[in-house]
Amino acid sequence: MEKIIVANMKMNLHFDEVNNYLNEFKNYNTSGLVFCPTSIYLPYFLNSNYEVGIQNYAMYENGAYTGEISASQVKSMNINYAIIGHSERREYFEETDNIINKKIKLGLENNLKIILCIGETLNHKENNQTNEILKKQIVEGLKDIKDINNIIIAYEPIWSIGTGLIPTNDEIYDTTNFIKEEINRLYNKDIMVLYGGSVTDENINVLSEINNLSGFLVGGASLKPDKLKRIKETIIY
Ligand code: PEP
Repeated sequence: MEKIIVANMKMNLHFDEVNNYLNEFKNYNTSGLVFCPTSIYLPYFLNSNYEVGIQNYAMYENGAYTGEISASQVKSMNINYAIIGHSERREYFEETDNIINKKIKLGLENNLKIILCIGETLNHKENNQTNEILKKQIVEGLKDIKDINNIIIAYEPIWSIGTGLIPTNDEIYDTTNFIKEEINRLYNKDIMVLYGGSVTDENINVLSEINNLSGFLVGGASLKPDKLKRIKETIIY
């Protein structure tokens, strides 16, 4: 099974730090890593020939949308991946499943590989609503989408992001299976599912035992090259 580690660097690092970061990966085999730095730094990662993804793009095609970046502009830079529907975008930028669906359609039209983030809040989990919420995010996020070949799902429990709290391996396994079954029911296809939420170089050994995952989405730990390398080397060799 193909495996990837997606480094979601969010709105972190200044330019001098990005230079140091890139230096740390010189002469390192980055295959399997997808770097998603803050957008203005993407050309530096592309120049190093690393696989990259954008953290977000606009819900509009092109034109008078000051401050936005379009999916076709992303593709024109040879950026292959895009994270869509991250919980921070859903929460702080009020992205609904409908907006996410529009973005995914634009991304697929431009041949981007979409990493669709879905996940439940602690409240959902405590009320046994996890599967219901995930199903809604899948069905509405992928509404009217016929071809899911370029879709990867990142299961990211919101209560786990940046908190150090992680579901048990069995819980992640069962939820991943639920997601795969839902996709199978809708599309009759298998899909790559990643786990994201407080993954570090310290817990990756345990997490690597979950055998239905296609990799991990790593936030905080991806800012430290040595941690990201250890995570990658545990999963991809
Ligand atoms: C994320 O925000 O996608 C994420 C996985 O963050 P962290 O690893 O810091 O929990």
